[in-house]
Amino acid sequence: MGSAREQDIKHILLTEQQISDKLDELAAQIDADYADRDVLLVGVLKGAVMVMADLSRKLKHTRTSMDWMAVSSYGSGTKSSGVVRILKDLDADLTGRHVLIVEDIIDSGLTLSWLISNLRSRGVASIEVAAMLRKPDAAKVEVDVKYIGFDIPNEFVVGYGLDYAEQYRSLPYVGTLAPHVYEG
Ligand code: 5GP
Ligand code: MG
Ligand code: MG
Repeated sequence: MGSAREQDIKHILLTEQQISDKLDELAAQIDADYADRDVLLVGVLKGAVMVMADLSRKLKHTRTSMDWMAVSSYGSGTKSSGVVRILKDLDADLTGRHVLIVEDIIDSGLTLSWLISNLRSRGVASIEVAAMLRKPDAAKVEVDVKYIGFDIPNEFVVGYGLDYAEQYRSLPYVGTLAPHVYEG
Protein backbone atom coordinates (compact mmCIF):
# COMPACT_ATOMS: atom_id res chain seq x y z
CA MET A 1 0.00 0.00 0.00
CA GLY A 2 1.47 3.38 0.97
CA SER A 3 0.82 6.79 -0.52
CA ALA A 4 0.96 7.53 -4.23
CA ARG A 5 4.36 9.15 -3.96
CA GLU A 6 5.76 6.20 -2.00
CA GLN A 7 4.71 3.90 -4.83
CA ASP A 8 6.89 5.99 -7.11
CA ILE A 9 10.00 5.13 -5.10
CA LYS A 10 11.83 1.96 -6.10
CA HIS A 11 14.38 1.82 -3.37
CA ILE A 12 15.15 3.90 -0.29
CA LEU A 13 18.85 4.66 -0.33
CA LEU A 14 19.09 6.77 2.80
CA THR A 15 16.53 6.91 5.58
CA GLU A 16 15.54 10.01 7.49
CA GLN A 17 17.47 8.68 10.49
CA GLN A 18 20.65 8.01 8.49
CA ILE A 19 20.51 11.52 7.06
CA SER A 20 19.98 13.07 10.47
CA ASP A 21 22.83 11.09 12.04
CA LYS A 22 25.18 12.10 9.24
CA LEU A 23 24.25 15.75 9.60
CA ASP A 24 25.04 15.51 13.32
CA GLU A 25 28.56 14.37 12.37
CA LEU A 26 29.03 17.08 9.77
CA ALA A 27 27.75 19.77 12.13
CA ALA A 28 30.20 18.65 14.82
CA GLN A 29 33.09 18.90 12.34
CA ILE A 30 31.98 22.30 11.13
CA ASP A 31 31.57 23.54 14.70
CA ALA A 32 35.08 22.34 15.52
CA ASP A 33 36.61 23.88 12.40
CA TYR A 34 34.94 27.28 12.53
CA ALA A 35 34.63 27.63 16.32
CA ASP A 36 34.02 31.32 16.91
CA ARG A 37 34.08 32.56 13.36
CA ASP A 38 31.14 34.07 11.52
CA VAL A 39 30.24 31.88 8.59
CA LEU A 40 28.05 32.72 5.63
CA LEU A 41 26.12 29.63 4.60
CA VAL A 42 25.37 29.82 0.88
CA GLY A 43 22.54 27.52 -0.18
CA VAL A 44 22.05 26.56 -3.78
CA LEU A 45 18.35 26.63 -4.69
CA LYS A 46 16.27 24.66 -4.74
CA GLY A 47 17.79 21.28 -3.91
CA ALA A 48 19.76 22.41 -0.89
CA VAL A 49 16.85 23.77 1.16
CA MET A 50 16.48 20.64 3.30
CA VAL A 51 20.21 20.23 3.97
CA MET A 52 20.47 23.92 4.79
CA ALA A 53 17.52 23.84 7.18
CA ASP A 54 18.66 20.72 9.02
CA LEU A 55 22.42 21.25 9.00
CA SER A 56 22.24 24.89 10.09
CA ARG A 57 20.04 23.99 13.05
CA LYS A 58 22.54 21.38 14.22
CA LEU A 59 25.39 23.90 14.43
CA LYS A 60 25.95 24.77 18.07
CA HIS A 61 29.10 26.91 18.10
CA THR A 62 29.31 28.41 14.64
CA ARG A 63 27.80 31.85 14.15
CA THR A 64 26.00 31.75 10.84
CA SER A 65 24.13 33.89 8.40
CA MET A 66 22.36 32.46 5.38
CA ASP A 67 22.12 33.47 1.79
CA TRP A 68 20.83 31.81 -1.35
CA MET A 69 21.75 31.53 -4.95
CA ALA A 70 19.96 29.98 -7.90
CA VAL A 71 21.94 28.79 -10.90
CA SER A 72 21.17 26.90 -14.04
CA SER A 73 23.35 25.06 -16.47
CA TYR A 74 23.07 26.15 -20.07
CA GLY A 75 22.25 23.42 -22.49
CA SER A 76 19.45 20.94 -22.66
CA GLY A 77 18.31 17.87 -20.84
CA THR A 78 19.41 16.48 -17.54
CA LYS A 79 23.14 16.74 -18.08
CA SER A 80 25.15 19.59 -16.67
CA SER A 81 27.16 21.47 -19.31
CA GLY A 82 29.43 23.36 -16.96
CA VAL A 83 28.34 26.67 -18.45
CA VAL A 84 26.37 28.18 -15.65
CA ARG A 85 23.91 31.06 -15.61
CA ILE A 86 22.99 32.91 -12.42
CA LEU A 87 19.22 33.02 -11.97
CA LYS A 88 19.35 34.62 -8.55
CA ASP A 89 22.52 36.08 -7.14
CA LEU A 90 23.47 36.44 -3.49
CA ASP A 91 22.34 39.47 -1.52
CA ALA A 92 25.48 39.44 0.61
CA ASP A 93 28.82 41.07 -0.17
CA LEU A 94 31.42 38.29 0.13
CA THR A 95 34.44 40.48 0.79
CA GLY A 96 36.35 39.04 3.72
CA ARG A 97 33.64 36.47 4.51
CA HIS A 98 34.10 32.84 5.46
CA VAL A 99 31.80 31.12 2.97
CA LEU A 100 30.44 27.61 3.29
CA ILE A 101 28.53 26.45 0.22
CA VAL A 102 25.73 24.07 1.14
CA GLU A 103 24.83 21.67 -1.67
CA ASP A 104 22.42 18.82 -2.16
CA ILE A 105 24.37 16.62 -4.57
CA ILE A 106 27.55 16.60 -6.60
CA ASP A 107 27.08 14.77 -9.85
CA SER A 108 29.53 15.78 -12.60
CA GLY A 109 30.84 18.49 -10.28
CA LEU A 110 30.72 21.04 -13.09
CA THR A 111 28.16 23.34 -11.45
CA LEU A 112 29.93 23.35 -8.13
CA SER A 113 33.33 23.85 -9.68
CA TRP A 114 32.03 26.93 -11.53
CA LEU A 115 30.35 28.20 -8.36
CA ILE A 116 33.48 27.92 -6.26
CA SER A 117 35.58 29.95 -8.66
CA ASN A 118 32.82 32.51 -9.12
CA LEU A 119 32.42 33.07 -5.37
CA ARG A 120 36.14 32.91 -4.68
CA SER A 121 36.71 35.77 -7.14
CA ARG A 122 34.53 38.00 -4.94
CA GLY A 123 37.21 38.39 -2.30
CA VAL A 124 36.22 35.76 0.27
CA ALA A 125 38.41 35.09 3.29
CA SER A 126 37.79 31.36 2.85
CA ILE A 127 35.51 29.06 0.93
CA GLU A 128 34.52 25.45 1.62
CA VAL A 129 31.75 23.09 0.57
CA ALA A 130 29.33 20.90 2.48
CA ALA A 131 27.40 18.49 0.28
CA MET A 132 24.90 15.87 1.38
CA LEU A 133 25.46 13.48 -1.54
CA ARG A 134 28.15 12.76 -4.08
CA LYS A 135 28.29 10.38 -7.05
CA PRO A 136 31.97 9.52 -7.42
CA ASP A 137 31.38 7.55 -10.65
CA ALA A 138 29.81 10.59 -12.34
CA ALA A 139 32.63 13.05 -11.61
CA LYS A 140 33.93 15.00 -14.60
CA VAL A 141 35.96 17.44 -12.58
CA GLU A 142 37.72 17.09 -9.28
CA VAL A 143 36.08 19.30 -6.65
CA ASP A 144 37.56 19.78 -3.23
CA VAL A 145 34.67 19.11 -0.83
CA LYS A 146 35.51 19.36 2.84
CA TYR A 147 32.25 18.07 4.31
CA ILE A 148 30.56 15.20 2.53
CA GLY A 149 27.53 13.23 3.65
CA PHE A 150 27.31 10.10 1.52
CA ASP A 151 28.89 8.71 -1.63
CA ILE A 152 26.13 7.07 -3.65
CA PRO A 153 25.94 5.00 -6.85
CA ASN A 154 25.53 6.75 -10.19
CA GLU A 155 21.73 6.59 -10.23
CA PHE A 156 19.11 9.32 -10.36
CA VAL A 157 17.77 9.97 -6.87
CA VAL A 158 14.96 12.07 -5.43
CA GLY A 159 13.82 13.25 -2.03
CA TYR A 160 15.28 15.38 0.73
CA GLY A 161 15.24 18.43 -1.56
CA LEU A 162 15.96 16.62 -4.81
CA ASP A 163 13.28 16.64 -7.49
CA TYR A 164 12.06 14.92 -10.56
CA ALA A 165 9.99 17.47 -12.55
CA GLU A 166 9.72 19.53 -9.33
CA GLN A 167 8.17 16.64 -7.41
CA TYR A 168 9.43 14.54 -4.49
CA ARG A 169 11.48 17.32 -2.88
CA SER A 170 9.52 16.96 0.37
CA LEU A 171 10.22 13.26 0.87
CA PRO A 172 12.16 12.94 4.14
CA TYR A 173 14.43 10.24 2.68
CA VAL A 174 16.52 9.77 -0.46
CA GLY A 175 15.43 7.12 -2.93
CA THR A 176 15.54 5.99 -6.52
CA LEU A 177 12.53 6.37 -8.80
CA ALA A 178 10.44 3.47 -10.01
CA PRO A 179 10.70 3.13 -13.81
CA HIS A 180 6.95 3.73 -14.34
CA VAL A 181 7.48 7.36 -13.26
CA TYR A 182 9.87 8.36 -16.01
CA GLU A 183 8.69 5.84 -18.59
CA GLY A 184 5.30 7.60 -18.45
P1 5GP B 1 26.52 18.69 -11.66
O1 5GP B 1 26.92 20.01 -12.24
O2 5GP B 1 27.31 18.27 -10.45
O3 5GP B 1 26.49 17.61 -12.71
O4 5GP B 1 25.00 18.86 -11.29
C1 5GP B 1 24.56 19.09 -10.02
C2 5GP B 1 23.07 19.35 -10.00
O5 5GP B 1 22.34 18.44 -10.85
C3 5GP B 1 22.54 19.10 -8.61
O6 5GP B 1 22.65 20.25 -7.82
C4 5GP B 1 21.12 18.66 -8.86
O7 5GP B 1 20.29 19.78 -8.97
C5 5GP B 1 21.19 17.95 -10.19
N1 5GP B 1 21.32 16.49 -10.00
C6 5GP B 1 22.44 15.75 -10.18
N2 5GP B 1 22.22 14.45 -9.89
C7 5GP B 1 20.92 14.37 -9.50
C8 5GP B 1 20.09 13.28 -9.06
O8 5GP B 1 20.47 12.11 -8.94
N3 5GP B 1 18.81 13.60 -8.74
C9 5GP B 1 18.31 14.85 -8.83
N4 5GP B 1 17.04 15.02 -8.49
N5 5GP B 1 19.06 15.90 -9.23
C10 5GP B 1 20.36 15.67 -9.57
MG1 MG C 1 22.40 21.55 -6.15
MG1 MG D 1 16.39 19.38 -10.32
